[in-house]
Order: sequence, then structure tokens, then C-alpha cells
Amino acid sequence: MSKTWRPATQLVHGGTIRSQYGETSEAIYLTQGFVYDTAEAAEARFKGETEGYIYARYGSPTNDMFEKRMCAMEGAEEARATASGMAAVAAAILCQVKAGDHIVAARALFGSCRWVVETLAPKYGIECTLVDGRYLENWEKAIQPNTKVFFLESPTNPTLEVVDIAGVARLANQIGATVVVDNVFATPIFQKPLELGAHIVVYSATKHIDGQGRSLGGVILSDKEWVTEHLQDYYRHTGPAMSPFTAWTLLKGLETLPLRVKQQTENAARIADFLAEQKQVAKVIYPGRKDHPQADIVAKQMKGGSTLVAIELKGGKEAAFALQNALEIVRISNNLGDAKSLITHPATTTHKNLTDEARAELGISAGTVRLSAGIEDTDDLIEDFAQALAKVQA
Ligand SMILES: *Cc1c(COP(=O)(O)O)cnc(C)c1O
Repeated sequence: MSKTWRPATQLVHGGTIRSQYGETSEAIYLTQGFVYDTAEAAEARFKGETEGYIYARYGSPTNDMFEKRMCAMEGAEEARATASGMAAVAAAILCQVKAGDHIVAARALFGSCRWVVETLAPKYGIECTLVDGRYLENWEKAIQPNTKVFFLESPTNPTLEVVDIAGVARLANQIGATVVVDNVFATPIFQKPLELGAHIVVYSATKHIDGQGRSLGGVILSDKEWVTEHLQDYYRHTGPAMSPFTAWTLLKGLETLPLRVKQQTENAARIADFLAEQKQVAKVIYPGRKDHPQADIVAKQMKGGSTLVAIELKGGKEAAFALQNALEIVRISNNLGDAKSLITHPATTTHKNLTDEARAELGISAGTVRLSAGIEDTDDLIEDFAQALAKVQA
């Protein structure tokens, strides 16, 4: 593997371990355990004197390929694959805090992520302050002497706000805290949090990395020092490991990730522009558009728009439901990042557990729908929206 390969090449070849059979596609090593030639070899492996696998909860060859390929793309030294995105988020945060520590997190978070910091962490004596992450001064004001972790996603779900990752990283470095970025919405193609100064990146690989509806998965990436000091033992002994079969589907997903994300983003951008002109639409929020409220930060830290579009319909819930029900190609689903275009109504699905007030703070109204653009033909998608909007009251 060459360090100088560009991302599209890394994503096809990076991290490949070929067996003695010279298979083209990566092999699936479905084993829990490994055998040693001698008792001495087992002893040396356990002492860490020789390289090699010990038990699949710690690491195994197919997972290793996935982790190394993710590292190559992300510019990270180490990665750990997990059974789901939430296993990655929970491990990345909990492995590095203890009772008495404090977390600052953006309030605009994927629902389960918000539950981890807002509800779970306090049960173990870890305090959390949620802030409006759009403004750096809010992060700064929330700092306490015991602040250890900053946690954010950018762009956010579902209203596609962005957080100045480099700015938050500067604040964290001043106090010796770490920044954990959930990079799902930006995708590894369009945003590199580690280059922006973040310390840890997490993904739900369920989304764009698989992108074809087959597997739940997650991954945590960082430098060797942080993984050795914080994550390694937590990961080994609490067991969030990914199945090797999942690692294999995700390796296949990574091969086509740039192609899919490119087409999805082109589709999202064209649909956003089309919808912005329609009389039933109050506004669209799309990081690739000049009228995005934080277009300057988008330009600074993202290499592309997004595969997601937030759409605010004038007619409230009735219009949102009518649009979803009238679409023929675009399917109703709370999932995202898929090859199939998917649409959801956050207020009654993904964000139904929030109070009305919390939803309002995040800019989610009764008329908000979130589109995850797929890889279908752009014109077919636009025609689908046109015929569906014709059934929606302006
Ligand atoms: C889906 C998602 C998660 C959780 O991932 P799972 O694979 O469903 O566990 C976390 N963060 C974001 C931003 C997501 O979209």
C-alpha cells in the first residue's frame, strides 16, 4: 500500500491482506479464535512481543483490512471497527471520561448520540452541557475546569447546520480536551476532521460507507497514542466488535464510496436548486448553496455539499405528509446515505422524542422534511418531486 495514493485508489486497494490463494476480492475470515504453532508463540503473542491476532473481539483479518482502509482514507493512524455507529460513538466518548469529568456537546445531534451525552453519561457522574454549536463563543462559555471532551456532528441532522471544527479544536487544545467529530453527514469524501484539528472521528458505517442497506457498522479513528491510552482496553473488554462479514460488505462499500457520494451530491444539489424555486417550499437548507446560513464555514471546511437536503414546506405537517405520500421513486425512510433516495419527516420520526421547544431550537418545524439523495438519474428524481409537489397545497 502506498501512502501517496489518492483516496479513490486507497478505497479500492488500501489495507488489502491477500491469503496464499491470491484472491481478487478480500477474503472473509469468519473465525473467533486463532491457533499458535507453539506454546512459546502463544506466550509471545500475549506479551505483545510478536504481531498477530489473538481473539476476534480484539481484532481479526477482515476487520483489519476495513480498519486500515479507513485509516488510509481518513489520514488516521489507528481505527477500531464497531457493530454499529452508536457503538462507535458510545465507545469513543465513554472510553476517555470518568466520574467528575465534563463534556460539552452541540445540542443538534443524532437522537441516540444526544441520549448518550445527555442521559447516559450523567448516570455515571459525567456532566454534560449542550450548546448551540453554530457559535464558537457558546463552546468557550461552556468550558469548565473539568471539561475533557467536546462532541459534535457537522453538518447536523436534520437541519444541516455546521460547526466550525477548527475553531472548536483550538479551544479544546487550550485546555487539553479532545474533540470527537461524528462525520456521518459530511462523509469522509467531503470533510477531514483530523486535518481540521479534531482528535477523534467516528462514523456510522451503516450510512454512506455501506450505502446499500445491507449492514449496521461503525468505526472510530484517531492517533496511535489516544487509541493505546484510551480506546484499546475499553474496546477489547466491553466487546463492541464488528462482525467480519459486516467488515467485508463495508470493504465492498468503500470501493464505490466516491462514485456514490459524487452522484448523490450532484442529485442533492440539483434537487435543492429545483425545490428552492417551488411555490410550496418556504426554504431549502443545503450546504452547497450560497444561501446556506453558514456558507463561509462550509467553504472553509467542506470539499463538497452534502447528500442531504433539509426542506421547509409552507403547508406544515399536512404538506410534508402529502409530499412524502405522493413521491414514487423517493421512499419514506429514516435511514440515510443509501443508493436509494429516502425522505423523512423528523418531527414525527427521528426527532419525535424531543420537546416542541427543543425541536424549535434545532429549526425543525412541522413542515420540515429531510431528503437523503440516492444515485438514481437526476431527471427522474426531479420529475418525481415535480409530480408530487403538484399534489401539495402552496
Ligand atoms: C445513523 C447515525 C448514527 C448511528 O449509527 P447506527 O449505525 O445507526 O448505530 C450516529 N450518528 C449519525 C449522525 C447518524 O446519522
